[in-house]
Amino acid sequence: MSHVTSLRCRECSRDYPIEPINACEYCFGPLEVAYDYGSIARTVTRKSIAEGPHTIWRYHDFLPVEAENAVDLGTGFTPLLKANNLGQKLGLDNLYIKNDSVNPSFSFKDRPVSITTTKALEFEFEVLACVSTGNLMGSVAAHGAKSGMKTVVFFPGDLESGKIVGASVYGPTMVAVDGSYDQVNRLCSELADDLRWAFVNINMRPYYAEGSKTLGYEVAEQLGWRAPDNCVVPAASGELHTKIWKGLTELADVGLIDSARTNMHLAQPQGCSPIVQAFEKGSRVVQPVKADTIAKSLAIGDPAAGPYAVQTLQDTGGTAVAAPEDEIVEGIQLLAETEGIFTETAGGVVISGLRKLAESGAIKRDEVTVAFITGNGLKTQEVVSDIAKPINIRPTYKSFEENMAAYLKP
Ligand SMILES: *Cc1c(COP(=O)(O)O)cnc(C)c1O
Ligand SMILES: [Zn+2]
Repeated sequence: MSHVTSLRCRECSRDYPIEPINACEYCFGPLEVAYDYGSIARTVTRKSIAEGPHTIWRYHDFLPVEAENAVDLGTGFTPLLKANNLGQKLGLDNLYIKNDSVNPSFSFKDRPVSITTTKALEFEFEVLACVSTGNLMGSVAAHGAKSGMKTVVFFPGDLESGKIVGASVYGPTMVAVDGSYDQVNRLCSELADDLRWAFVNINMRPYYAEGSKTLGYEVAEQLGWRAPDNCVVPAASGELHTKIWKGLTELADVGLIDSARTNMHLAQPQGCSPIVQAFEKGSRVVQPVKADTIAKSLAIGDPAAGPYAVQTLQDTGGTAVAAPEDEIVEGIQLLAETEGIFTETAGGVVISGLRKLAESGAIKRDEVTVAFITGNGLKTQEVVSDIAKPINIRPTYKSFEENMAAYLKP
């Protein structure tokens, strides 16, 4: 049984019924799912969670849908890996990588989309839709296929081919729009007003946003039921950052962990860093920017949850960092070469940001630090394609000796 009580406006706290709506009629603030935490606390124990499936659905009591109906591809409970090699390079003794690039469609987006697709079926929608910076459409297409819904995805036409092909294979209707993400988003917001479609990140956004909380639960459980000292999170809309924090605070509220005293750090690429800029000005007003970055999955110039991400930074003592564009590929390589994990550009932004935070002393050597790797490198191969420089030989021993002489010297 779900413990949801209402949708609640994040600005004026007015309550709304559980419907496919995302904005307050009075103040236009975004709506968020509210729960009866007393009831959750009476139901959930560490043991009951541990007995659940090895997916996000082990936390179903904290989610806004009924788990029996879950559209489940096996999302979640991804590895939390101790990163000793990278830690040594950065001067961090307790560094962990949350490797969320191994989800079914190879990004963390499967978390919000699994929940939203389930909710869309509850609401009896027939069409699942989204506006995507790349990973979302792959996830929506996969869950659309599994659920049997018609699926339509909208995206800026200049996305990486790995993301376009990686979504197309599931058979959705793919709509490439000649414009930026922010322009596609405005178009889809108009469409969502008129069509009875479940746009996962527009009219379904309150349910969608809840999915990212599960990263907070998992990390705390995997650390032995404690919140880390630092999280380093990539941001596009800013939702992931705020919702990992919501997940950690909920665990403390229901007594599953002692307290959440985590510094919630945030990383954006220099070429699209409106949240970082607002934070540096000490302002919750996020000025839209024109995105120009190789980290296309983070290219949202007008971030929907930007003000709440700034608030989370301020409330938790986090720092916001912008990764220089020319350090993003370095970050991808550094993680691959030290820890054996191939991430996409968003992960390169996180590793570059992590390095800055360690160098500046914002993150201290002995603190437990989790860097969130949210997407898979096989989808953004074009940015690292010139790394591939194999030694070419003929299929003879002689050719091997001639070409590999340097490697055979003692
Ligand atoms: C979408 C995305 C993000 C950012 O998520 P927001 O909730 O919009 O901030 C981060 N990393 C990857 C790989 C993504 O696809
Ligand atoms: Zn309101």
